[in-house]
Amino acid sequence: MSYPDITISNRHERRLLKGHLWAFSNELKEIRKDIPPGSIVRLLREFDEKPFALAFYHPNSLIAARIITRDSAKEIGEAFFRSRIERAAARRAFILSERSGVRLIHGESDFLPGLILEKYNDILTFQITSAGMELQKDVVVSLLKDIFSPKSIIEKNKSHLRKLEGLPELESVVFGTETETEIHDGAGIKFAVSLLKGQKTGFYLDQMENRTAFARYVKQNDSVLDLFSNEGGFALNMAAKGAKVIAVDASADALENAKKNANLNGLGERVQTVTADCFDYLRDSSEKFDAVVLDPPSLLRSKKELHAAKKAYFNLHKNAMKCTKPEGFLATASCSHHLTRDLFLEIIRDAAGDAGRAVTILEERGAGADHPVLAMMPETEYLKMFILRVH
Ligand code: SAH
Repeated sequence: MSYPDITISNRHERRLLKGHLWAFSNELKEIRKDIPPGSIVRLLREFDEKPFALAFYHPNSLIAARIITRDSAKEIGEAFFRSRIERAAARRAFILSERSGVRLIHGESDFLPGLILEKYNDILTFQITSAGMELQKDVVVSLLKDIFSPKSIIEKNKSHLRKLEGLPELESVVFGTETETEIHDGAGIKFAVSLLKGQKTGFYLDQMENRTAFARYVKQNDSVLDLFSNEGGFALNMAAKGAKVIAVDASADALENAKKNANLNGLGERVQTVTADCFDYLRDSSEKFDAVVLDPPSLLRSKKELHAAKKAYFNLHKNAMKCTKPEGFLATASCSHHLTRDLFLEIIRDAAGDAGRAVTILEERGAGADHPVLAMMPETEYLKMFILRVH
């Protein structure tokens, strides 16, 4: 099979040869409008016109090419995707022995650009965020049925990233009928998940390991405030250690599930849910807690929002620190890729200064091991979490 050629301008091929997977539109010698979005193309170096990779192409996206293989003679078809999917799943075998909700494919980090796949027992959910992968959807779904024999497959294609590739947003059950199941995390906490209703790709699996990690710091009868609690992931891990938790979220639906999950684990008496805006809740609260979790949604989706987002993160942190007892713990997470680790830390420092509290860093963490970062591609890093002691 021959694929059309796209030439990468001199110098820009270097980053790609070193392992980065995206070529941006300004790095192409020429944007070929005659090649439809999502097509597979061969990437050539400008200086010797040698092919060095195959990529998904998009003539109207800032990310103009996403490398799928460095073997430019490769046939891209069912066998190729089968091997990539099977390998990604095999990488998670050790995680599947610990918990029953796992991300099996994490896009570029599993060399499948724009494909996310999650497994909740026998139910699979997926999300596609590139036009290239969208064209492969039928192949991918048929492979998922064949490889995993799932009870059902749910498409969670509601992501703002799809707009950037000209793709519609939708959610549907593409195979089977079941949309609900009960999973457990590494600490044995059970969660009844409703995958069609759940936010994002069904449940926040990226925090699975961080919840258990932070629970290590709480003890019997500690008071905990879980802000942006969603379905109570952190709250339940803390409650299982004997803490009394207030879980706050703006979504009444998510909190209803948090309550159900608390009862499912026999922790109903230890978890109180409050439907509220966390910014308001923090501002108005005068209670002090032994431990606080701060896990807001992305407040910074593009660099344009930086100024407003910095202010929002600053206020959240300052008020969260004020709510933490002396010597207490604060777990703070940011899932904004554009908020760098250093900037995040700067905000924490500024907020501590303003709150009049010294802060020590006990742990610096990221998303769980099923959400790996491709080292040569900083764009694949998004979730950052600090576990702090607030003196
Ligand atoms: N901590 C959760 C994940 C949080 S995701 C876990 O471990 O699973 C972010 C959550 O913030 C979502 O549940 C969303 O409903 C909630 N949210 C968004 N804006 C909010 C606001 N202003 N106040 C309170 N909750 C908000």
